[in-house]
Amino acid sequence: MSEADFDLFVIGAGSGGVRAARIAANHGAKVAIAEEHRIGGTCVIRGCVPKKLLVYASRFADDFEDARGFGWDLGDPEFDWPALVAAKDKEISRLEAIYRSNLERAGVVIFEERAEVAGPTAVRLTDSGRQVGARKILIATGGKPSLGEAIPGLEHVITSNEAFNLKALPERIVVYGGGYIAVEFAGIFSGLGAETTIVYRGGKILRGFDEDLRDALTEAYQKRGIRIITRRTFTRVEKTGTERIGHLDDGSKLAADQIMFAIGRAPNTAGLGLEQLGVERGWNGHVVVDESSRASVDTVFAVGDVTDRMQLTPVAIREGHAFADSEFGGKPWLVEHDMVPTAVFSTPEIGTVGWPEHLAKEHCGELHIYKASFRPLKATLSGRDEKILMKLIVAAESDKVVGCHVLGEDAAEIVQMAAIAMRLGATKADFDQTMGLHPTAAEELVTMREKWFAPTEAAG
Ligand SMILES: Cc1cc2nc3c(=O)[nH]c(=O)nc-3n(C[C@H](O)[C@H](O)[C@H](O)COP(=O)(O)OP(=O)(O)OC[C@H]3O[C@@H](n4cnc5c(N)ncnc54)[C@H](O)[C@@H]3O)c2cc1C
Repeated sequence: MSEADFDLFVIGAGSGGVRAARIAANHGAKVAIAEEHRIGGTCVIRGCVPKKLLVYASRFADDFEDARGFGWDLGDPEFDWPALVAAKDKEISRLEAIYRSNLERAGVVIFEERAEVAGPTAVRLTDSGRQVGARKILIATGGKPSLGEAIPGLEHVITSNEAFNLKALPERIVVYGGGYIAVEFAGIFSGLGAETTIVYRGGKILRGFDEDLRDALTEAYQKRGIRIITRRTFTRVEKTGTERIGHLDDGSKLAADQIMFAIGRAPNTAGLGLEQLGVERGWNGHVVVDESSRASVDTVFAVGDVTDRMQLTPVAIREGHAFADSEFGGKPWLVEHDMVPTAVFSTPEIGTVGWPEHLAKEHCGELHIYKASFRPLKATLSGRDEKILMKLIVAAESDKVVGCHVLGEDAAEIVQMAAIAMRLGATKADFDQTMGLHPTAAEELVTMREKWFAPTEAAG
């Protein structure tokens, strides 16, 4: 300790790093944090928050249309993309300032430059060339969009990073990828009026999610005019004037104003000095950690997207918090990575917690499935042709609800609450005994009485 400038040096001021730095400092540790881009990290600057703001913007189109069914006449509303981007940027700057002042108030020293690991207890700041000592180093460098194979013309595509700050709203956009980021951006651009195509190399979007959700969202997107091309990959991208031409592996071409690649994210570990130090890294370069976020070198820890756990903000925050309490607060605890609720902010949106049916089968054996698909009350007057889907998966032996999957308005809000009950081990009988709140969509979760049988089972 005598030689160390700091008790803790955090590399990366995103969700996990900021939380860890603040909590460690509150426990009395001398803490520094380095950030090479903007304080707040992916979630605040170019992830969850700006994304959700764009999602809100995209949903007004539905609201205006629905309003007519309720007697409103709004004329022809117009949309101004630069105005939205400017308003979003203002809010992001406000949040960045709050993150900065929270760090400062906790007494954390901020270095606004890139940092690399220079030894087990040493960090090098690359702009100033300064080297500082720290008893412990926390890698919280997050991830970045990965572009996949090096095909010709990759310089003409955008990723989610650029999508937030386009000069103009594209009239036609092709989104490459089938994960939640691709699906969300397709929903955003489509809602804002762009002719939108998803290209995905797999057979169905949202791999890993419950099959019913995947099918229901595919259907809803197609009804909304989003074209979904599956089992195709890009082989080349060309730019002619302002137009981009995407070449697919079956020889077909797609012309668009923008082509966005959202085919996955890679951990930010390149050039970080981890190899030289002998820190073990995993299949895609992520830092391998144990359950208390410790890496293979004793003084080095890692939290958030740079590890191969769950790439979600609340998870990164909690991992950072647990690390700081455990290492500097004398209060060791571990993060639970099960029953983590998550959402896809598509329109209609998805909220999900627990196992999808295919994994529930593997983990729990015999299941009871409850499903409801219905037209929301609002749609009766708006005339909108969209359904809500609710699905509960119950382990037959214990009666515990092990999966809750919702597609429709406010799905994410509903599922956040269901997650509390499920974490506490709620059974289907507990759900049934809970009084419904009427008239809501969510009441369906406590009133589903009939088990659902697949048509083949029912027929047999
Ligand atoms: C488009 C998009 C939408 C998302 N939506 C959601 C959502 O709705 N809900 C949700 O829970 N999650 C969402 N996520 C995921 C979420 O943003 C991440 O899980 C979360 O930000 C991870 O936090 P982190 O602290 O691990 O890393 P980050 O927040 O990525 O922070 C890492 C920071 O480290 C900095 N850095 C990297 N290397 C260095 C270095 N060598 N020196 C100094 N600084 C460095 C980076 O600039 C960055 O600021 C989304 C992500 C994206 C891309």
